[in-house]
Amino acid sequence: MLEQIWLIVVLVVVIALVGVGLFVGFLRGRGGRSGGRSQLPTPSRPDTTGYAGGPGDDAGPRPVGVGTDVLERPVDESVATLPELAEPEVPAYERPESARGRLARLRARLARSNTAIGKGLLALLSRGGLDEAAWEDVEDTLLSADLGVEATTELVAALRTKVLIEGTTDEATVRGWLRAELLKLVDPSMDRRVASTRVDNRPAVILVVGVNGTGKTTTVGKLARVLVAEDRDVLLGAADTFRAAAADQLQTWGERVGVPTVRSDREGADPAAVAFDAVKAANELEADVVLIDTAGRLHNKTNLMDELGKVKRVIEKQSPIDEVLLVLDATTGQNGLEQARVFSDVVDVTGIVLTKLDGTAKGGIVVAVQRKLGVPVKLVGLGEGPDDLAPFDPAAFVDAILD
Ligand code: GDP
Repeated sequence: MLEQIWLIVVLVVVIALVGVGLFVGFLRGRGGRSGGRSQLPTPSRPDTTGYAGGPGDDAGPRPVGVGTDVLERPVDESVATLPELAEPEVPAYERPESARGRLARLRARLARSNTAIGKGLLALLSRGGLDEAAWEDVEDTLLSADLGVEATTELVAALRTKVLIEGTTDEATVRGWLRAELLKLVDPSMDRRVASTRVDNRPAVILVVGVNGTGKTTTVGKLARVLVAEDRDVLLGAADTFRAAAADQLQTWGERVGVPTVRSDREGADPAAVAFDAVKAANELEADVVLIDTAGRLHNKTNLMDELGKVKRVIEKQSPIDEVLLVLDATTGQNGLEQARVFSDVVDVTGIVLTKLDGTAKGGIVVAVQRKLGVPVKLVGLGEGPDDLAPFDPAAFVDAILD
């Protein structure tokens, strides 16, 4: 009897110990897992590599800043020396320079090539005894700066009247006149803002057009930086699908500042489909603005223009286009003006980006192109550096020429 009671006590104790052991094991198992889970720091900007959906690729946008595969990986506790759970790599994005004051920084570049004109004009105008030959020299100087015949004629007429009435050729006075007249031609009253904030609860859509080689893709990349510096959520659409390198180039620009790019990996894919996908993705991601790069081979003008027209129509099935920026190379002079006309026949150009103003003494093209198209120069490219694109400021521009 005593033996049986003893056996029962032993059994009860063993069962209790096993039960406690199992319970502790269960608790440790739970605690160990939750302790091993690391909170991923959320990148402040979207993962650029994850969004490369092309036409027909309906994978949809990847949620921004989530690395679920790392989160769910169980931790093996049997390993004595647990490797540190690698901190996920948070890309170090570049901080683009703020748009404000860029033109002041780049003024020297503008001045380097264009002050010769300003100085030449001042020397001519202030030397006194202006005869016909001297006025012709003034005209030639202005024409050589690509100001165009019409604007040159107007400017010379205005200056001649002043000299006649005031009868002075004092340099400071002449500089004042020249500054005022040039500023009038550049037209400070034009609205040079770039549409880049959400409109009616949808992203602003900017279409960037222009002939290849003018600096179009570079400009889209630089503009993305300007907008990122202004805290906009930007998305890029690589609709120049003829050259695979163009999409790579654009994606690289985006990746540097944490901006996603919608592209196709297939050379020759339908650019309209890429543009459509880009606008759709920007809507889904609730971006502030989507920038769409397009192709610009002019050798077959009809095809190019048909294609551009299609891109425009397909985008407009989803959203109005808020801005069409035409990129022109300032060094191409009259040729650039002809390109401007061709493009404006197909799309409603709302602003000009003049690139390579750092490499030319033909700053007068600003005036000529504005007159030709009736739309303002909104941005100027002044170098190959990533932040060498500046909002155009008429007063700073004229001052740089006259200094
Ligand atoms: P796209 O074919 O029109 O897309 O032209 P890219 O963007 O590939 O640019 C063509 C070349 O022009 C590149 O070497 C750019 O670095 C250069 N470029 C673009 N903008 C400027 C600028 O404002 N100044 C200078 N000096 N070069 C520029």
